[in-house]
Amino acid sequence: MSPAASPAVRDRLRIAIQKSGRLSEPARALLASAGLSWRESRDRLFCYGESLPVDLLLVRDDDIPGLIADGVCDLGIVGRNVLAEQAGEREAAGLPVVFREWRALGFGGCRLSIAVPDGWDWQGPAQLAGKRIATSYPNLLRAWLRAQAIEADIVVLNGSVEIAPRLGQADLICDLVSSGATLAANQLKPVLDILHSEAVLAGPVTPFVDARAELAELLLRRMDGVLRIRDSKLLLFQAPREALPQVLQLLPDAEPPTVCPVEGGETLALQALCHGVMTWQRLEELKRAGARGLMVLPVERVLA
Ligand code: ATP
Ligand code: ZN
Repeated sequence: MSPAASPAVRDRLRIAIQKSGRLSEPARALLASAGLSWRESRDRLFCYGESLPVDLLLVRDDDIPGLIADGVCDLGIVGRNVLAEQAGEREAAGLPVVFREWRALGFGGCRLSIAVPDGWDWQGPAQLAGKRIATSYPNLLRAWLRAQAIEADIVVLNGSVEIAPRLGQADLICDLVSSGATLAANQLKPVLDILHSEAVLAGPVTPFVDARAELAELLLRRMDGVLRIRDSKLLLFQAPREALPQVLQLLPDAEPPTVCPVEGGETLALQALCHGVMTWQRLEELKRAGARGLMVLPVERVLA
């Protein structure tokens, strides 16, 4: 099947993910944990879905919103930064925005930040007036400047934005930051964030009308299940009946526990699905509150 063919009615779902880069492995891992498997193709553009009629298209991340808009693929996993920038670009060009964020996926986290030379005494956004700002995200930056009523010049660069101030191309930059190490190496410091980004599942604004509707719904349900239990653990322990209120207070992120009386009813055996991270410190607090025989078990799947 050619990935370029785009009939209006399809009985297979096609998901675009980044071919190689920061989002490729986590995107594949997420889809695999939702039960998808594929036959790898030689050209590494298209992977045929085996466990479900859901195929993968391996592309550059920047191409994903356009592929959804053109109907070449149905869904995509892409950074919110890319999706929002391209939505802004389409709006500016008078084109309809036919894609949107369906789900935040909890990986690929970063910020689109304004960063100024180390030596600047940062006082606030008003300082940006009349300055030249280098960025690969002109639409997001323009919208933000407009909302702040700041007039500044946007210098559009497609790569190596962080060296623009040193080269004299711009006074400051607006770029993606995660650890800040790249900025620091270029004598820049982030001063404010204009977008908090992470990988998202992107899809069309209008729902599917053919077999893809059911497939997309199945996939979403499974992905939601995987995302919901990402940090979850099953906690097993015993506690004296009178310690129960104190113990449960320490588990605000737990589903209502299953409780069984043991040893004539004075001791209780509990089983609780906890959604927060189960640190040693939390376990020690539970023990101090009366819990005994604490056991933390990994949770692989939950079907509500
Ligand atoms: P491609 O060849 O697919 O165009 P790329 O160089 O544009 O690759 P990556 O550097 O792999 O892409 O980044 C992909 C996405 O990862 C970004 O759009 C962003 O959403 C996310 N990301 C997370 N942390 C960072 C970071 N520190 N710098 C850049 N992107 C980041
Ligand atoms: Zn890219």
